[in-house]
Amino acid sequence: MTTANTTGTALLTDGVRAEATIDLAALRGNLAALRERTRGPELMAVVKADAYGHGAVSCAREAVAAGARWLGTATPEEALGLRAAGIGAEQARILCWLWTPGGPWAQALRAEIDISVSGQWAMDELLAAVRETGVQGRVHLKADTGLGRNGCQPRDWPALVAAARAAEAEGLIKVAGLWSHFAAADEPGHPSIRLQLDGFAEAVATAERAGLRPEVRHLANSPATLLLPESYYDLVRPGLAMYGLSPVPEVGGPADFGLRPVMALTARLALVKHVPGGHGVSYGHHYTTSGETTLGLVPIGYADGIPRHASGTGPVQVGGKWYTVAGRVAMDQFVIDLGGETAQVGDEVRLFGNGEHGEPTAEDWGRACGTISYEIVTRIGGRVPRRYLGASS
Ligand SMILES: *Cc1c(COP(=O)(O)O)cnc(C)c1O
Repeated sequence: MTTANTTGTALLTDGVRAEATIDLAALRGNLAALRERTRGPELMAVVKADAYGHGAVSCAREAVAAGARWLGTATPEEALGLRAAGIGAEQARILCWLWTPGGPWAQALRAEIDISVSGQWAMDELLAAVRETGVQGRVHLKADTGLGRNGCQPRDWPALVAAARAAEAEGLIKVAGLWSHFAAADEPGHPSIRLQLDGFAEAVATAERAGLRPEVRHLANSPATLLLPESYYDLVRPGLAMYGLSPVPEVGGPADFGLRPVMALTARLALVKHVPGGHGVSYGHHYTTSGETTLGLVPIGYADGIPRHASGTGPVQVGGKWYTVAGRVAMDQFVIDLGGETAQVGDEVRLFGNGEHGEPTAEDWGRACGTISYEIVTRIGGRVPRRYLGASS
């Protein structure tokens, strides 16, 4: 049940303060568009960070339904959560890549989770867990081809490869993958792209010369999946694009790539009141009414993931018109100046969506707050209920 708003279409469930709707049909459509675009490589749906705020289990299920045979998470806990929710190894391989000493190696092995290894310490802990559990490990060796974050440096790569090959020969592991990650695939022509492509080719060649025969070699994140066919190898790893946002807004918006934003964030006006001119608004009085006006109270704040940097800049739509956050975003609420417009308590406030109703997008919020759309959707917090639309089953 939803209530109508002044634009005729309604999003909010009755009685809720705020809600993120997750359009799973759009998610499936985005994956179909990415498959169509790439034609060939397998798809790894990256569902780390609760699927960029969209809900990991629901999105992972839909990605599998849409033909993704791989899921990617950062932490092993995220990967174990997907298995615990019933996504079995026969449905999807799951790779997780952010390990720390003492991590849940044995649980990951028993749950048939693929494990990324960037250094010898991780290989050692993994092999100890393999001996303890008697379960062979499936390993993806990660090369640092220039990102300078996780991954093995070129000078240490031959030794890591040799250790992996020796463990394979003992039957302890199978090297299922070789992989790396881009630093600036979202900046077409950035010199690091060519260097990383070459560095990856070299890392793969070194591993193959040492006798490794990985099932998958993979390098492409969303921007590379959209713009760089040379990076596809056997598998592409889109995250943001699957959620219908453009990782390269300077090159094109979602529609230019056949994508539709999956998340819409809507709240309900909690108060509408008339105030005189010269009235300060919200903490610090960084906004003052320029004349007699109407203020609307939007009951969502930085505890819900609305950036405090949206103070004075974040865009919302009420009754078909755009407004800007007036004054500071507080922990649980912010205010808009409705000017002479008539709005009523309970009316829908569209913070962002797919833009098809003329509302702002997560990209607009990113720009308003000096950040990227990745951060806007990912930070929408646990206090905001998710409502799923268009599930395939
Ligand atoms: C987050 C991440 C991705 C997906 O990145 P997008 O830009 O969202 O597509 C792919 N690979 C790795 C290693 C990641 O950490």
